[in-house]
Amino acid sequence: MTDPTSHTSYRQPGMSQTLRVPVALLYHSVRQVSGGSIYRISISPERFRRHVEFLTSRFRVVRLQDFVDALASRIRTEGMACITFDDGYVDNLTAASDILREYHTPATVFVPTGFIGRPYFWWDALHAIRGAASCSPGVGRCHLRIQFPALRDDCDTAEAEWFRVWDHLRRQRLEDTYEAVGELAARMEVDLAGLPRPIASCELQQLTQWPFEIGSHAVSHRPLSSLSIDEAASELTSSRSYLEGYTGRPVRAFSYPFGLFDHEVAQACRQSSAASLCSRPNIPAASAHAPARCRRAIARNCRSPLAASAASE
Ligand SMILES: [Zn+2]
Repeated sequence: MTDPTSHTSYRQPGMSQTLRVPVALLYHSVRQVSGGSIYRISISPERFRRHVEFLTSRFRVVRLQDFVDALASRIRTEGMACITFDDGYVDNLTAASDILREYHTPATVFVPTGFIGRPYFWWDALHAIRGAASCSPGVGRCHLRIQFPALRDDCDTAEAEWFRVWDHLRRQRLEDTYEAVGELAARMEVDLAGLPRPIASCELQQLTQWPFEIGSHAVSHRPLSSLSIDEAASELTSSRSYLEGYTGRPVRAFSYPFGLFDHEVAQACRQSSAASLCSRPNIPAASAHAPARCRRAIARNCRSPLAASAASE
């Protein structure tokens, strides 16, 4: 088998077998991937199994809290790894959990509570609509401009226009976003049945049992830095108290939607007493915040879980 680390930055000189740099990995959905995705956040179960097999053979895979504690104390971090999932796709339970159990590997799932029980994620619906529109791009753009008239003058290409719609929707109130996506699907006669769904409230308890731990991913999954500080603080506390109420367990870990935050948001997050702040890569270390910090590498549907270039800190 080809060495899956051959093109990553994790191999260090003189360390042909043992990888030493600690790494926190970010997954989303574990399902069969067909035709690619503009978001590239899905991984097939077969690939995920190979990732876990690789990680457990080369790393000491630990709970997120242990990972963050070790980084904070700067001891015994060599060869350490942790696995996380964002967004609360139900396939974390149906596809990933058996693989994690098989390899005795813990993982943390970050759930945006406003999505619990919904039939699909709005961004997957938008992607499905876009896919349907690709058959007749002119008609698709026409529908898009009717649905979102304020966006019509900004974009030169269909690609840019769909991105602008996505960027617009992710900043809206969640109910408004779902309503807009539903209307667009109806307008373009796109069937949204069969899209991967978020976890249901009756399934939350399973995320508190081995191999999982549960973390908060806010409520509406809007970029917290785009909200007023009061709204952002409300997202933090509401999400946490919802999850704690349903599971009866303390929820200490938090992941920023889209990895976006600013100084005020980070302060609010500290005040909500989340113990672990877990954000995406490409954020300067100096802007990550106490009491704990963790940058993650996004694992793609590639042979190597370390194909992403960002390291954790
Ligand atoms: Zn997310």
